[in-house]
Amino acid sequence: MSETALRWGLSSHVGRVRQVNQDAAMANGLLFAVADGMGGHRGGEVASDIAAGHFRLQQEVTNADELADAVVEANTLIRARAATDPTLSGMGTTLVALARIPSEDDELLLAAVNVGDSRMYRLEDGEFEQVTQDHSLVGELTRAGQLSPREAARHPQRNVVTRALGVDDKVDVDKWTFTGVVGQRYLLCSDGLIDEVTDEEIGAVLRNIDEPGDAAAKLVDMANWSGGRDNTTVLVVDVVDGAECDPAETES
Ligand code: MG
Repeated sequence: MSETALRWGLSSHVGRVRQVNQDAAMANGLLFAVADGMGGHRGGEVASDIAAGHFRLQQEVTNADELADAVVEANTLIRARAATDPTLSGMGTTLVALARIPSEDDELLLAAVNVGDSRMYRLEDGEFEQVTQDHSLVGELTRAGQLSPREAARHPQRNVVTRALGVDDKVDVDKWTFTGVVGQRYLLCSDGLIDEVTDEEIGAVLRNIDEPGDAAAKLVDMANWSGGRDNTTVLVVDVVDGAECDPAETES
């Protein structure tokens, strides 16, 4: 029985308009997260940094509930920090995360969580689909049938989120547990990618570029070619046969 492993690549860029990259991300082979900060002054940067930093400190996550608990803790840390500094008041961040969790047998188990409009997608057997739901105004209108996905993509208020860390003492976290299968590819990204590159184009890149770091870098380039109006962060995670796994990961 061969062992499965995760191979990953991460790329993040400030874009062509903004002065500061308020996105933050972390990856360590077991846990992967993308956070997209919001808020004036240094707020967005600080909030996403606190969230990614808290995930970096996590030891083994054993199930989706524990992963969601880490999100709640990050929310508390962001609120506490904002309370000490009026210039950070109102700061917040999205968070989408994927974790390998222990399983009884040889199966590779994964857990995911999401708050906000950063996304996780899955490519499997050529099929590319969004796993997470956007907690955004247009996401809710789309699910209610009041906007088509095409209208949502161009809606002037498409960046208004309805859930984020830092906003309230309580935070609702969506969570999933599923089996990782060799050949699956996961994409975690901030909205800087989604606003500039269509799902069809993203799917094509993920089908055609084998190395996860190269695929992540290509997607960030495409967001910048298309305008780069926001920070873009892309994390590509592949489920691979452990025997074939090159331990080298790429980050740019
Ligand atoms: Mg953004």
